[in-house]
Amino acid sequence: MKKITPHLYQLNLGFVNAFLIEDIVPGPDAADSLAPGFTLVDTGMPGHLPKIFAQLKKAGKDPRDIRRIIVTHAHTDHTGSAAAISKALDIPVWAHADTARLVEQGRPGEASLQVSPGFLNRLIYQLFIRRGGAIDAFNITRRLIDGEILPIGGPGGVKVIYTPGHGAGHLALLLQADRVLIAADICANAFSLDWSTVYEDRELGRQSILKAAAFAFDKAVFGHGRPLTSDASARLSAKFASSASAARSPSH
Ligand SMILES: [Zn+2]
Ligand SMILES: [Zn+2]
Repeated sequence: MKKITPHLYQLNLGFVNAFLIEDIVPGPDAADSLAPGFTLVDTGMPGHLPKIFAQLKKAGKDPRDIRRIIVTHAHTDHTGSAAAISKALDIPVWAHADTARLVEQGRPGEASLQVSPGFLNRLIYQLFIRRGGAIDAFNITRRLIDGEILPIGGPGGVKVIYTPGHGAGHLALLLQADRVLIAADICANAFSLDWSTVYEDRELGRQSILKAAAFAFDKAVFGHGRPLTSDASARLSAKFASSASAARSPSH
């Protein structure tokens, strides 16, 4: 796994990423006294538990120090191993209420999907997404709310940003001390900064990108692709400022 900022690591699980938020010191808002440790954000596909634990161990971290899981949205490539990891470590899972409604029934989504422009998106959709894929159901023990601050990830905590559009209940997470956004699938940075492959409602997704980008952060990490390592909030705002500018193909 790769260290992105003092409190954030990215785990590359193949075509999808997961993240680890580390509490170096308990946050100042730790009135609800969460034990310091790790928060695993997203869990890859079904069967990814060994991969995730192996990456922690290789970095000298103990998987038993994972205190909780947050899933950003219900899609199989983010929730696939949540049931297994939650059970193995006896830890809770947190998510938005709309995500809870789906995953507690073992469903990765219910709305029809719009495939984003471009040949590659159509190909990825045909190969990986069209057939969906059931997940093992798991319970969400804490329903996260737009704007709340979680006392994890160092001073300033983690701000929850409700960002629907790609999928119901989608959350982005802002690590305020590190000025880094866990953008998950609001958009992607696979070949260049661009749309995610699918949206339930792409215009709503665009508004969610702008909502998240209105906060100031330097770096951003994505469910798919590489981190943005500088000027991330400005670059997101510029890229997705209008439907027209977002539709323009990248120059590279
Ligand atoms: Zn997704
Ligand atoms: Zn995804």
